[in-house]
Amino acid sequence: MIYFDNAATTAPFKEALQTYMMTSERYFYNTASIHQSGKDAARLLEAARGQILDLMDLKNYDLVFTSSATESNNIALQSMLRRKKPFGKTILTSELEHPSIVNVLEEMKQDGFTVKYIKTTESGTVDLSHLRTLMDSDVVFVTVMAVNNIIGSVQPIQDIILILQDYPKVHFHVDATQAIGKADIDYNGADTMSISAHKFNGVKGAGGLFVRDLATLKPVQYGGGHEYNVRSGTVNLPAIAAMAKALRLTLSEARLVNQRLKDYNLKIRAAVKDLKAVYVQPKDAPYIVNVSFIGAKGEVVVNALSKRGIAVSTTSACASKLATLNETLLALHNSDEVIEGSIRISMGRTTSEEDVEQLITALKEVYEELGDVLK
Ligand code: PMP
Repeated sequence: MIYFDNAATTAPFKEALQTYMMTSERYFYNTASIHQSGKDAARLLEAARGQILDLMDLKNYDLVFTSSATESNNIALQSMLRRKKPFGKTILTSELEHPSIVNVLEEMKQDGFTVKYIKTTESGTVDLSHLRTLMDSDVVFVTVMAVNNIIGSVQPIQDIILILQDYPKVHFHVDATQAIGKADIDYNGADTMSISAHKFNGVKGAGGLFVRDLATLKPVQYGGGHEYNVRSGTVNLPAIAAMAKALRLTLSEARLVNQRLKDYNLKIRAAVKDLKAVYVQPKDAPYIVNVSFIGAKGEVVVNALSKRGIAVSTTSACASKLATLNETLLALHNSDEVIEGSIRISMGRTTSEEDVEQLITALKEVYEELGDVLK
């Protein structure tokens, strides 16, 4: 199978798998145990934490290890909002967020919060002037993703931080799950930030929540309090050690990989440009190309490509269960037909020129096969 679904998950680096295996064998101990082996495991955990904070250049932050970005987002949103309630009830977010943000905010509405959506520009970024107009004394929380998982648009995180500097009681959360190695973003100034190892060629089961002031967080699940009394449960040391390894490798090769993916991105765009039914979404981070077969259903295109040995995703795969059409594409004012016929092609570090050639051939074949269905 030729894999073009790297925004869903990525293949682990061999080195990350080796780290996982080695840590599982030699450091399987519980980091909370006070015997020597437990202490050795705890030392490894702290080394991984220090490395990740250094690599992300977030020296004044703490890092809470979690199981996934979904968990990190939930901890940041649920715990902060509980604390913020006496100070204001308005939450601002973009129209582009992942369900692990959107569905928490929907739940928060039941608790009396008001959620307002910052408008989206044509290039798929938050409209900063609209953000400015939404800011008032009732706003206590702003949450915006760093890179969008549907079209790859990169959000102006530092510009948002600058605007929020005038509102010290506002907590700013960034979901950076899709951004690691894809966009060079400075997160300093954000209050909390989420990452997930399996999106940057680590193994599944490890995520992180970077925190500027640990004292502001409360647990959302109670237990032994392993991670700074914020997150309980025996830590997944092998996956965390592998995450540190994967992060180092990802960042060290990012410039070269992105240059290559940019060329491939342009190649795919050029190849579909002349097909009348195909509409290509705006983009920033080069690893994603979103293409619509107008008149067809995205699932049909995904299945037709799958039969040819190519894995892509429908744009709805990650859509919130509350929505029938993908919110990101809706925010960009696409017609229902464009959204229904869209597929997401997402490349990664192992994508080769030959893979791209085969994808282009298959896209053209599927286009022909769909024939009259297309508009
Ligand atoms: N946020 C974004 C932007 C994502 O793309 C994803 C994964 N699809 C998540 C959060 C959730 O990540 P995880 O799989 O680690 O829970």
